[in-house]
Amino acid sequence: MSKNLKIAELSAWSIENIDRPLIIGGPCSAETEEQVLETARGIKAAGIPIFRAGIWKPRTRPNSFEGIGAQGLIWLQKVKAETGMLTATEVANAKHVELALGAGVDILWIGARTTVNPFAVQEIADALRGKDIPVLVKNPINPDLELWIGAIERLSAVGITKLAAIHRGFSTYQKLKYRNDPQWQIPIEMKRRLPNLPMFCDPSHITGDRAFLDEVTQKSMDLNYEGLIIESHCKPEEAWSDAKQQLTPKSLEELLANLVLRDPEADNEVINNTLGELRHLIDDFDQKLLELLENRMQVAKTIGHYKKENNITVLQNKRWGQILEKSLENGKKKGFSEQFINNLFKAIHQESINQQEDIMNS
Ligand code: PEP
Ligand code: MN
Repeated sequence: MSKNLKIAELSAWSIENIDRPLIIGGPCSAETEEQVLETARGIKAAGIPIFRAGIWKPRTRPNSFEGIGAQGLIWLQKVKAETGMLTATEVANAKHVELALGAGVDILWIGARTTVNPFAVQEIADALRGKDIPVLVKNPINPDLELWIGAIERLSAVGITKLAAIHRGFSTYQKLKYRNDPQWQIPIEMKRRLPNLPMFCDPSHITGDRAFLDEVTQKSMDLNYEGLIIESHCKPEEAWSDAKQQLTPKSLEELLANLVLRDPEADNEVINNTLGELRHLIDDFDQKLLELLENRMQVAKTIGHYKKENNITVLQNKRWGQILEKSLENGKKKGFSEQFINNLFKAIHQESINQQEDIMNS
């Protein structure tokens, strides 16, 4: 069903001269009128067409700044009147939608903590029925692609066509390099499932640290994302929320200028032919990989029959530990990451166990 969603192109978003990537920039939160206007002037000077600011802030712990509330909408109106930029803010319930639409906000986004809740998303969708406003949907904080797609479907079902997704990474219990684990395979799979849905990257919430913004932003460009939403503040160190990940409009302008934008497809015949030949090679290797795995599985099945005849359990923990250890060591020598070898061999081992289980139960 998802493939049939009616999704408008970004060019339908009433923005003059849409460049790739389409940029949304502005502070995590609207704090004061001066901060909003000063930041907006910088964002405008950086050539960015859409200004963001959170008015209602979903914070992890209470007693922190939870957003300036509806009075901030007036500041967004002033930004629009003075700079001509479109404005964007986060909505988390029907009341927010009503107030934001009433104040003439141009673009809405649904935050990661809201996407997880189908009741909240449905409430927002119902409040938007019949409205023709762009809505961006952040990934849920948990790595659940179906929940993310479900939110898009709920908005589509009420007639919203100007839809886009925002990849902002996924919560983890352990502290990794970034604040939120990007899990790039999830937005890539989203793109495969909904090829027409524009994908924005939010490197601010992925990294949680302005020092890493450039590498994540570049990666999203290499993966062909259509847009970026980046937090920027006139005085980042003094920001009332997410101070570590914001950068000045000037630094944002530099970051954008340093991005290397590559073409999604080449229109040069020589390049296409070379790529075509290399892709044939890859297809050949994929075929051989499957044949090898098939042969390996045949041996695993023979072992399964043998275990059954001799009444031995399917899982042999010690043996599995040895396989993984040896493969990690070999994989490392070949330049593979530990995570890749872990995932690969766990998947192969799981399939062997499943097939041996079938034999045991037959
Ligand atoms: C935000 O964009 O300021 C925000 C709250 O982000 P997220 O929903 O991704 O945490
Ligand atoms: Mn933020």
